[in-house]
Amino acid sequence: MTKIRTRYAPSPTGKMHVGNLRSALYEFLIAKHEGGDFMLRIEDTDQGRYVEGATDIIYRTLEETGLVHDEGPDKDGGYGPYVQSERVKTGIYMKYANELIDKGEAYYCFCDRERLSSLKTEVVDGKEITVYDKHCLSLSREEVEEKLAAGSPFVIRQNIPDEGTTTFHDELYGDITVNNSELDDMILIKSDGYPTYNFANVVDDHTMNITHVVRGNEYLSSSPKYVRLYEAFGWEVPVYIHLPLITDENHKKLSKRSGHASFEDLIEQGFITEAVVNYVALLGWSPEDNREIFTLDELIENFDYHRISKSPAVFDMVKLRWMNGEYLKAMDFDRFYEMAEPYLKKALTKNFNLRSIAAMVKTRIEILPDIAGQVDFFEELPEYEVEMYTHKKMKTSSESSLEVLREVLPVLEAQEDYSNEGLYASLLKLVEKKGCKNGYVMWPVRTAVSGKQMTPAGATEIMEILGKEESLRRIRRGIEKLENATA
Ligand code: GLU
Repeated sequence: MTKIRTRYAPSPTGKMHVGNLRSALYEFLIAKHEGGDFMLRIEDTDQGRYVEGATDIIYRTLEETGLVHDEGPDKDGGYGPYVQSERVKTGIYMKYANELIDKGEAYYCFCDRERLSSLKTEVVDGKEITVYDKHCLSLSREEVEEKLAAGSPFVIRQNIPDEGTTTFHDELYGDITVNNSELDDMILIKSDGYPTYNFANVVDDHTMNITHVVRGNEYLSSSPKYVRLYEAFGWEVPVYIHLPLITDENHKKLSKRSGHASFEDLIEQGFITEAVVNYVALLGWSPEDNREIFTLDELIENFDYHRISKSPAVFDMVKLRWMNGEYLKAMDFDRFYEMAEPYLKKALTKNFNLRSIAAMVKTRIEILPDIAGQVDFFEELPEYEVEMYTHKKMKTSSESSLEVLREVLPVLEAQEDYSNEGLYASLLKLVEKKGCKNGYVMWPVRTAVSGKQMTPAGATEIMEILGKEESLRRIRRGIEKLENATA
């Protein structure tokens, strides 16, 4: 069996779009599942779209996500160069374009802009393209030689017959047959001597021995033209896997504005890398048992590309948040603390025990920025309504709470040990003395010290963090509020 070789072939045009990350991930998983090689190739032949720094983003993202490539510009595996602009210099694309010309599968075209602009146009995939009329196909060899010798600018076009059909096979979509008359004579070599993306892609995938090509289905419509190139050269066509579109919750294409378009956007919003990778793996793929949480190694083990779906994948923020929360819960505490610390420090400027607070929130947040909303009451007692003291299940009311806090105050004033355990033992004594339920005492105390309906911890844990002075101040404030309300 031939060794599986896949490639991630990004164009360095900006951030790592979620769709690109998915392609890279699936390529990686397909290769690693079978013990194959995963390669990185930089497709930078479209100089106009090149964005400074974009290549660094690609390297950084692959490293952060753990999609380690076996070969690439920085790791020679014998198939280099791995950057298309460097491959141009080796003459490889011209060599293969000439081979196609010799076979009658391509031809020189000298038409100038003016002539081209007079030709018919068609809208393909939302873009307006000129339908070339094969004008230059009729030039004789001598005429071509003459023009080349005179230094006339030219492009090289693929020669696609008007008659007949071309059939293309995709692993997910099956056989797709198109009429050749619908395929335009696309440019293979541009007037600047660079190959077009479409041509370089085919030459490179073949010469780099790529066995499986995974990419977004926006390329599906160009694929018959690729197949014609493979056939013209007599090369074996790789396995093509075109992935379904990724949409937002409103079934619209993911856009920059929706905030989850790129890997960086998600990290900036406080998602963690492993959760993003796990979530992206499920955008179009699912295992047989519908399990959802996977480490990268588990994905490698379980990934079967035959189970990729054709239906559009909805990027569901609610689900990603949930998944991220699961990762935070399962995370080792020291690592969690390292990540949480900047958020805690931003929310809390007073001298608190941040590690204890981190331990309280670890299982209660979905993303790190949620921390602020969980811990804000430590910094400053919020304004709150006395109605919060009334809790049906705990059987508390404003009156009962006032009575309880008045009894609690001297206990807490006398208390020296402000540890959670010490405080809990003292309050429990009061509960026993009163012969009431725990909540009858704990609820008003917690309300008084937090001013919140929901807190990441109970009354005594909160008081341990706040310390004696601040706890007492808040209890007194509670009494004052209740006195005013019940007066
Ligand atoms: N350079 C193309 C892109 O970034 C890659 C498409 C492919 O994988 O063939 O979209």
